[in-house]
Amino acid sequence: MKLKKTVSFSKNSTNIFFHILTRCNLNCRHCYINPKEHGKNTLSLSAITKWLDAFSDKKNINVIFLGGEPTLHPELSSAIKAAAKLGYSSITVDTNGYLFNDILSKVTPDEVDYFSFSLDGATRQTNNMIRGEGSFDKCLNGIKKAKRMGFNTSLIYTVSMLNIHELDKMPLFLKTLKIDRFFIQVIGIRGKSAKNKQAELQVKRSKWLQVIPKAAKRVAELGIPATYPKVFLEPDEHFECAGLVADNYFIFPNGRVYRCPLCEDYPLHSLVFEDNKLIETKKINENDLFKLNIQEGCVMNRIIQHENLKYKNDGTPEYKIACCMLKEEVINS
Ligand code: SF4
Ligand code: SF4
Repeated sequence: MKLKKTVSFSKNSTNIFFHILTRCNLNCRHCYINPKEHGKNTLSLSAITKWLDAFSDKKNINVIFLGGEPTLHPELSSAIKAAAKLGYSSITVDTNGYLFNDILSKVTPDEVDYFSFSLDGATRQTNNMIRGEGSFDKCLNGIKKAKRMGFNTSLIYTVSMLNIHELDKMPLFLKTLKIDRFFIQVIGIRGKSAKNKQAELQVKRSKWLQVIPKAAKRVAELGIPATYPKVFLEPDEHFECAGLVADNYFIFPNGRVYRCPLCEDYPLHSLVFEDNKLIETKKINENDLFKLNIQEGCVMNRIIQHENLKYKNDGTPEYKIACCMLKEEVINS
């Protein structure tokens, strides 16, 4: 068996991360949604369709419907069908597993490429401590139901100091549930984590490097592609900002459109929907930050979560922080 590792930045596709509402039935400890900055409204189907259409002239477009909890949107199934009709290449729904509004019976496996479930522990105790009472069982039931109905599933595990110790249980867990893809996410100091100053939840570099690549490899060895953020770069490794070289859009129900997820807690969005038209915002915005070339790598990381940086005695950084969208994918080839 051969394991192939690729570093992906998805430069040849456009990715639309579409938050169609910010409402959620859960209240996870690390939730990055910030209603003050993202709005509390639920987008109408008409707005969703027009906003999807604003990107439809691009080639190879992927849409990820998110929230809040996107299945709380009563017209999610129609939004999915609208994206398919507009020629989107892939459609994913990120969910906490509660699968409201009987969503699985309103769409088919041909219409949705993946239902992507968020689970933050291999045990009920750890997951529920982070995501709330009852969420583990609901998520597992949702995954099983989706599999029974023929949908592809992925699982997203947001790693923090609260759950990194359970990653070693995940390979078997994923195999048993017949999960098709595994995504490790890094906890960001945004939204609730920033408000509660939970920087201590971030995993230190030595621990990250010791645990994460190995965990992904073990998952891939079982035939499940595993993706994780690169996070740390050696001082001589090449750094790129996705804001300058990739085509990602993070859309919120108040109309803000960001190119960088780390900017989402601030009114730094470079685009906005006004009267259902996508327009550029005035300077200064995130585009101005992307161009700053600093020794630490990602400029937004330096500004909002500098606790994960370390410096030598001469003041130079020991390592760089990669763009949060730089991923490594391990697959069994
Ligand atoms: S399920 Fe997602 S949107 Fe809902 S509280 Fe948790 S992290 Fe936030
Ligand atoms: S995370 Fe950093 S490197 Fe990536 S787009 Fe944002 S500012 Fe650029």
